[in-house]
Amino acid sequence: MSASQQPADSGITTLYHVIGGTAVPGQSGRFGDVYNPATGQVTARVPLASAGETRAAISAAAEALPMWSAVTPLRRARVMFRFRDLIERNAERIAASITAEHGKVLSDAQGEVTRGLEVVEFACGIPQLLKGDNTDSVGTGVDAWSLRQPVGVCAGITPFNFPAMVPMWMFPIAIACGNTFVLKPSEKDPSTPLLLAELLEQAGLPAGVFNIVNGDREAVDTLLTAPEVAAVSFVGSTPIAEHVYSTACAAGKRAQALGGAKNHMVVMPDADLDDAADALMGAAYGSAGERCMAISVAVAVGDVGDALVEKLGPRVKELRIGDGTQPGMDMGPLVTGEHLAKVRSYVDTGVDEGATLAVDGRGFAAGDGFFIGGSLFDHVMPDMRIYREEIFGPVLSVVRVPTYEAAVELVNSHEFANGTAIFTRDGGFARRYANDIDVGMVGVNVPIPVPMAFHSFGGWRRSIFGPLHMYGPDGVRFFTRTKAVTARWPEGPAAGADFTMPTMK
Ligand code: NAD
Repeated sequence: MSASQQPADSGITTLYHVIGGTAVPGQSGRFGDVYNPATGQVTARVPLASAGETRAAISAAAEALPMWSAVTPLRRARVMFRFRDLIERNAERIAASITAEHGKVLSDAQGEVTRGLEVVEFACGIPQLLKGDNTDSVGTGVDAWSLRQPVGVCAGITPFNFPAMVPMWMFPIAIACGNTFVLKPSEKDPSTPLLLAELLEQAGLPAGVFNIVNGDREAVDTLLTAPEVAAVSFVGSTPIAEHVYSTACAAGKRAQALGGAKNHMVVMPDADLDDAADALMGAAYGSAGERCMAISVAVAVGDVGDALVEKLGPRVKELRIGDGTQPGMDMGPLVTGEHLAKVRSYVDTGVDEGATLAVDGRGFAAGDGFFIGGSLFDHVMPDMRIYREEIFGPVLSVVRVPTYEAAVELVNSHEFANGTAIFTRDGGFARRYANDIDVGMVGVNVPIPVPMAFHSFGGWRRSIFGPLHMYGPDGVRFFTRTKAVTARWPEGPAAGADFTMPTMK
């Protein structure tokens, strides 16, 4: 499949789509640049699909559907077992591909591969997960059972920040359930999903079951309105999530669209502050803050604010920042020059708004890479833009509140409600927090509470559109529809017509 990559004399690779098991060059004449964020150099050109090219991928998935949905769950699971094995054997290659286009440090990229792998392992259990319910004798000589069947052609649209893991939140379960799939990955780091397609092919997945269409809004809008597409899974920013959800629903599809975040970590006065500071460093600055579960707000309760900022400040200044392929780095560059400019301007905004800039990361630079240092704001107020909006960079805001109740009110008033954490030694407060908080994923002394593959992942409020979370049991629900069968095998002579509402006798 990779045979059609065309490394030009310049060293810039031209990428492709994967349609019906074949690597297909872009025909639209439109391309996007893919960068190595650590050097600022263009390393690849990604084709941006036209509506026609997107429709070709949808047709390939629709053609493969009758064949694949008729393959038994056990055999579909065997493909997943082989895919799982191939991911493990190619983990370093996948991680290197993530770092090369996203910029995150290699150890972080390896963690991303592991978290994706876990969803594939969950999908290996699909025969068990698809089991229906059965009731013997709902009436005399009448039995009832329910079964889960695939929904059809499914589309996945994914963000730049987890080019392996987020696609793997979706397609392993969709495919294991008997659906076929069209993935539209982020145009910023598209090589990793292409590598996953190669491994799926090696695992024995028949052509057309998994397709990739690279592109931008034109490809997305075609997927959202094509009649053959039955379900759309999206992960990305909130404005696009809202657009995807409303457009897909208006076109009669089932949809789940996960959006942006502003995750708060509440630090109670009784917390172990060294432990809390360690947690904040990793959760706020790991992956340069480009995680939907990154902590971007530390809520200092009571009098812990000064001590917390004192512990954090020197450590933020000492962050080891550099090319993610170099060992020992804490964080790499941001994904693009455009994103770097946006994050930098948020730091400017925070200063203009009157927050205290305890550590200024704007001065950090390394060659032409898209680097910025870690920034730490203190005395951030809830009406400031740096508090209300998602920055998606290495910028942590400290908000001070007097009490536990004020902390809960603050967190519950924010537009976003993806994840949150509380750091405390008090089991009573921890338990209350888990119940009081209107947020989808909660950590108790765990800063990034990403649920394991056998639970489900998702926020609340405007961090999600649609009722079902991603992967885990909700993933199976999303990618299947239930059917209820009521069956009677009459014994003896026919009973004659019955014109009343059927009730079981
Ligand atoms: P994005 O919304 O810009 O892009 C996501 C996808 O939508 C990409 O495939 C992109 O090509 C496509 N897209 C972009 N603009 C579009 C448009 N106008 N119409 C149709 N499609 C469009 O997000 P991003 O910058 O790639 O990723 C970062 C965002 O994703 C952050 O907001 C982050 O919080 C969010 N995110 C959320 C979760 C979660 O689970 N809630 C997980 C990861 C990332």
